[in-house]
Amino acid sequence: MDRHMNGGEAGDVRELRVERPANNLLRALRAEDLSLLTPHLSPWFADTETVLYEPGDTVQTVYFPCGPSLVSYVVMLEDGRGVETALVGREGALGGIVSQGRLPAYARGLVQFPGPFYRIESRALEEAKAQSATLRYLFARYADCLLAQVFQSVACNATHTIEQRVAKWLTAALDRTGDHDVPLTQEQLASMLGVGRSYISRVVQNMKSRGVLETRRGGVRVRDRDQLHQLSCGCNDAVRAHFDDVLKGVYPTEEESTVLKLNAGAASPGSRMPG
Ligand SMILES: [Zn+2]
Repeated sequence: MDRHMNGGEAGDVRELRVERPANNLLRALRAEDLSLLTPHLSPWFADTETVLYEPGDTVQTVYFPCGPSLVSYVVMLEDGRGVETALVGREGALGGIVSQGRLPAYARGLVQFPGPFYRIESRALEEAKAQSATLRYLFARYADCLLAQVFQSVACNATHTIEQRVAKWLTAALDRTGDHDVPLTQEQLASMLGVGRSYISRVVQNMKSRGVLETRRGGVRVRDRDQLHQLSCGCNDAVRAHFDDVLKGVYPTEEESTVLKLNAGAASPGSRMPG
């Protein structure tokens, strides 16, 4: 797996605290369940475009994004294009947390927003799950939420406009990162949504002229989140509502995001750290 990793120094993650993890799924575990995992969790930092898994890789490591870290599951098509099917931030985890692990990955796991993670070996997670039914239940509930997100993506891609989908993607990303800067070029956004670059360019220009966002080198900055939300389809809200029903308190809140933003503002560039 190491051939895919371009993570940074341990110093980048020094503020991660296992007793109060900056991953909402770990935080939702009962103390006894978290203590089964704690000795095996190691902090790690990933830069943008780090690949956690390629399709077919044997999944040996489970990743819990912390703070603003954001990962896409990208399905690779036979013509070489990759289309995003789900976004995972601090509300979740990647790496077959419900299945047995050590199985081949189906989609590429691509880091979209850099930041800290916890990693655990699949083998260690298996052992903890064998010891605790409540730990298994919580992760099964998360899998249900992730599946809901994929269901919603299928319906969204089939029916909603590119503008609605761009607005939805940016809203979902901002929910998790708490940062109004989205380090994704129009090229990357087009490829991720599986649409032509010219469509994205038109949508972005339109949003720009309405004051919703501005373009910057290597990405966009959202200026009016309310208007962005109005332009979006209801798909992200539907997924959030399902999280609230199934795993209350795990979907990132605006309050948490404000804290992240303040911390990011206070920290030096490159050390975007959650509390
Ligand atoms: Zn939609």
